[in-house]
Amino acid sequence: DEFTKKHLQGFQETTFALIKPDGLKNMGRIIDMILANGFLIKELRMCKLSLEDAQNFYKAHAGKPFYEALTQFMANGLCVAMDLVAENAVKRWRTLLGPTNSEEARDRDPSSIRALFGTNNTHNACHGSDSLENAKKESAFFFRDRNFGSCARLENCTLCIIK
Ligand code: UDP
Repeated sequence: DEFTKKHLQGFQETTFALIKPDGLKNMGRIIDMILANGFLIKELRMCKLSLEDAQNFYKAHAGKPFYEALTQFMANGLCVAMDLVAENAVKRWRTLLGPTNSEEARDRDPSSIRALFGTNNTHNACHGSDSLENAKKESAFFFRDRNFGSCARLENCTLCIIK
């Protein structure tokens, strides 16, 4: 009933997912897997990160040997940002992604997203937040104009159903 539904919704969590530039060509298949695995897509937008955005997004890795290549790669094409809702969403999305390195993913978890659509340790198709706290931060960055009540670019847009 309605009460139970509302009550259960309280136990759902939201994670942040990003299709990286190398995953874009498989966006349809990735979204199919997201939906088939019971996630609700609450927000979705395509965007292109500036190099500064990419450096900021991966600032925890600043100084590591792969940082330069990683940030260049992230700023070198379109990304698809999503808020995914499910019970245990943070953990379940990371599981669906598989290991960070797509080559390793093909050995250890061949049906995972990174095994299927990524290439190597840097080009691995998708990102998933590693904690609820980071999910909130990352989502806030990508959807920072969501609380305007109407689309930030289309004045008086009434199409948005999620405020
Ligand atoms: N990465 C890389 N080389 C490495 C480790 C990571 O290029 O040796 C990239 C890869 O794209 C990864 C991102 O940096 O997704 C963030 O690394 P992290 O260890 O946080 O892995 P994730 O949480 O994305 O699985």
